[in-house]
Amino acid sequence: MLLSKFLCQYMIQDDYKTQGMRTQLNRLLRVKGISDDAVLDAMKIVPRHLFMDKDFLKQAYSDIAFQIGKGQTISQPYTVAYQSSLLDVKRGDKVLEIGTGSGYQTCVLIELGAKVYSIERQKELYDKTKVFLPSIKYNPKLFYGDGYKGLPAFAPFDKILVTCGAPFVPQDLLAQLKVGGILVIPVGAGKQQVMTTVLKLSAFDFETHELDKFSFVPMLEDKERGS
Ligand code: SAH
Repeated sequence: MLLSKFLCQYMIQDDYKTQGMRTQLNRLLRVKGISDDAVLDAMKIVPRHLFMDKDFLKQAYSDIAFQIGKGQTISQPYTVAYQSSLLDVKRGDKVLEIGTGSGYQTCVLIELGAKVYSIERQKELYDKTKVFLPSIKYNPKLFYGDGYKGLPAFAPFDKILVTCGAPFVPQDLLAQLKVGGILVIPVGAGKQQVMTTVLKLSAFDFETHELDKFSFVPMLEDKERGS
């Protein structure tokens, strides 16, 4: 009874129309250079429109970032696809995400088979997403806190993904990465960031690659909490 009520609710929220819109969006992402089938398949499953106000269906399936409140945005689909591809998630990977926001990227990681731990520093967003994700069947471990510090109690992680623009690569995050693990982080204090991957070769050796430029909301430090 409960299950059928849940399915009914879920199916009403995601129908052939919205599934078709996701197929179109995936085609666009391929044209823009995304070729990772696992990532595109995951994005085909997650109903992005449910993470935004219902009046913005068209925007949900356009390749744009969008306001989600408190001055924050749900990342552009291309950015989600790009970062997820770089993270190279394997089933069962323990992944730390910095910047839960709407939880959309979190759900894409879950569909890729990751066990996700995600940190958000804005209390209102954290509260909202903590209730919303289980309501659409996703159950990551969500934390209200400071992404610069990571989650030492749950380390080490196979992969770490930062979804806000960091002025530098936080040492705590490197320390919480497994040897062989990958950190994906947009680095830059100004309007633009350079997408950066850091591969942990040993406890003290790292291989860094700088890729394309993106524009993220800033990764804020604790002292700015509440802004
Ligand atoms: N992954 C999100 C993107 C949200 S935008 C999504 O798919 O919707 C980036 C998020 O990072 C914002 O919600 C912002 O509040 C959060 N953030 C900024 N600085 C942070 C920090 N120091 N620790 C954790 N989260 C932070």
